[in-house]
Amino acid sequence: DYIQAIQAYKPGKPIEELEREYGISGSVKLASNENPLGPSPLAVDAMHVAMDKLHRYPDGRGYALVEKIARKLGVAPGNVVLGNGSDEIIGMLTRALMQPGDEAVMTAPSFLMYEIMVRSAGALPVFVPLKSLFVDLDQMAAQITEKTRMIFLNNPVNPTGTIITRSEFEKFLGKVPDQAVVVIDEAYIEFAADPDCADGLAYCTGQRPVVVLRTFSKAYGLAGIRIGYGVMPEELAGWLHRVRQPFNANALAQAGACAALDDDAFMEKTVRLVRGELEFMYAALEHMGVNYFPSEANFFLIDVKCDADAFFEAMLRQGVIVRSMVSYGYPEYIRISAGTREENQRFLDAFEKVINQMQ
Ligand code: PMP
Repeated sequence: DYIQAIQAYKPGKPIEELEREYGISGSVKLASNENPLGPSPLAVDAMHVAMDKLHRYPDGRGYALVEKIARKLGVAPGNVVLGNGSDEIIGMLTRALMQPGDEAVMTAPSFLMYEIMVRSAGALPVFVPLKSLFVDLDQMAAQITEKTRMIFLNNPVNPTGTIITRSEFEKFLGKVPDQAVVVIDEAYIEFAADPDCADGLAYCTGQRPVVVLRTFSKAYGLAGIRIGYGVMPEELAGWLHRVRQPFNANALAQAGACAALDDDAFMEKTVRLVRGELEFMYAALEHMGVNYFPSEANFFLIDVKCDADAFFEAMLRQGVIVRSMVSYGYPEYIRISAGTREENQRFLDAFEKVINQMQ
């Protein structure tokens, strides 16, 4: 029964499929918060080398990658669990720690996999609406009951780009009972510039059941190889290992991620580009008199003041793929990921045409 209540995750369609559907070509995709620079070149080289060993099973515990992550973050290897994308860690958490009748508190909107995985475990999501695009931690705390086993936070928040501050997070943690695991999903943390942004890592290796999720899919440009990780107290990691598939992090992903962690130049270039390009787009939109919401991530929301699905279609006909926020509960907002200057200029040119048509 509870599987019937799940709506399958619908990712944005691949470029090729959209182009075929709309009879266009050479379009620009700014819809999935991917790295506009592509993958880290060091990662690509390392994966080429690793291909010679593809007849072998990967290291099931991902020893080299786990060690490297632990050293970089200043935690113990026992605190780190690898996943086939951070998506898989969400599934391991709910499978290992939740059972039918339990509840998980999360924001609305929030990353769809939280709800899907919670329901897959037969448990129930409890939604707390964002308040003016920000996480309403007081309301989230108010929704905690004796049934609450998990709380999902996302920092910076997808799709709004807002952050949870250190002091807000600290105050919130003080209200969470020990039976509830706090999962703080930091998929976009590398882009956040605000010094007040909460630092989940400071909390996830102590006594409290706090888990930080990180991914190589965004700032590291490795979405296609599916690798992410969770950082958590060793006892919690032990529970995840019980339900983990033995070779969940594949050999190419381990090799690529290891090399990407060393590629500081690529990370710096990515973050500099994204922050600069967001400013470039904000300035252009301001000039057009368009309402947008500044973000701490690599994407931001724009208020198009008309049906966002129709706006998405009109943009697509101009060869630019954006994300409509209708299904996220924002019927007149679109979300744009920062691209290269050329891609962003194409977006702005198309946007100006479409907004003039639609309004
Ligand atoms: N969390 C958030 C908030 C995301 O936006 C995404 C990707 N869309 C993920 C997690 C999943 O990332 P991964 O590719 O590591 O599974």
